[in-house]
Amino acid sequence: MPRNTTVRDYIRTIVDFPKEGIMFRDVTTLFADPRGFRMAVDQMLHPYAGEQIDKVVGLEARGFILGGAIAHQLSVGFVPIRKKGKLPGTTISQDYKLEYGEAIVEIHDDAIQPGEKILVVGDLLATGGTAAAGIKLIERLGGEIISCAFIIDLPDLGGRKILEELGMDVHALCA
Ligand code: 5GP
Repeated sequence: MPRNTTVRDYIRTIVDFPKEGIMFRDVTTLFADPRGFRMAVDQMLHPYAGEQIDKVVGLEARGFILGGAIAHQLSVGFVPIRKKGKLPGTTISQDYKLEYGEAIVEIHDDAIQPGEKILVVGDLLATGGTAAAGIKLIERLGGEIISCAFIIDLPDLGGRKILEELGMDVHALCA
């Protein structure tokens, strides 16, 4: 890979995954590249330079990889939002709609203190359902969300609009 590349150049598209007709944006190729991964983390952090952030919340599962690196860079704590049944302590839950059926995400009920300033991190914003459910969990615990950061925003799927209607600031590195 030449040195003067963008984050987008490191992301691979897999046709018909996980089912026919889906063009899956595979960020493992970005994470596996030393320059690509650093570029993504640095660029995701860039809009928040000088801002107070108390915790980073990562959306399962690739949001854990990015969120962990971002939290480390900011010297703040990291909190996971996980699919139902994965967190060992006492949790609160939020359900949301999928294309077919629904899903539930959870957060530990003591993971965020009221008034803490939160940066939400995910890999990809599609319909916005996952992120919106995560936002609701954080707000139910009294967290104040500073912004939501993603590598990829697929604007045609409407996620950004949904998050902005919830009053969120949304940043993404590419479409
Ligand atoms: P949403 O809830 O916004 O519709 O979907 C976003 C969730 O689905 C995220 O957790 C994201 O990781 C996953 N997702 C959906 N499509 C893709 C894709 O093409 N590539 C990747 N990496 N994740 C996807």
